[in-house]
Amino acid sequence: MARWFAGEGDAFRLLGTRCSRCGAVFFPREDDFCRNPQCGDGELSEVALSPRGRVWSFTDGRYRPPAPYVSDPELPWRPYTLIAVELEAERMVVLGQGAPGVTVADLEVGMEVEVVSGVLHEDAETTWTTWHWRPLGVRA
Ligand SMILES: [Zn+2]
Repeated sequence: MARWFAGEGDAFRLLGTRCSRCGAVFFPREDDFCRNPQCGDGELSEVALSPRGRVWSFTDGRYRPPAPYVSDPELPWRPYTLIAVELEAERMVVLGQGAPGVTVADLEVGMEVEVVSGVLHEDAETTWTTWHWRPLGVRA
């Protein structure tokens, strides 16, 4: 199965793919063909994305999030903060939830954030990991 992220702690990174021909970077990863209409036939290889970026937009999540987030319809819905982050090097926008405790009151457009691993869902046997965005200088 293609991975969306790898590493632990400070080495945690989102994984995308990069086209060998035009250099386009894709996240979510594109493993079949380059989506750049001017290109189309480069080799796609896995690449770790910048761990930091700047807040481009943010909102309160008032709805259950789409896949790959796991949401149990039997449980009461807990609001979350959804942050769109423009990555430093790639100049691409990646959506993710704020780290636990981060609310819209903590955020400003242009603020620097970093990617951290977070818990998507857990049960007695398994913890599923996802990524969260955390403002720099805030400790979990
Ligand atoms: Zn390409």
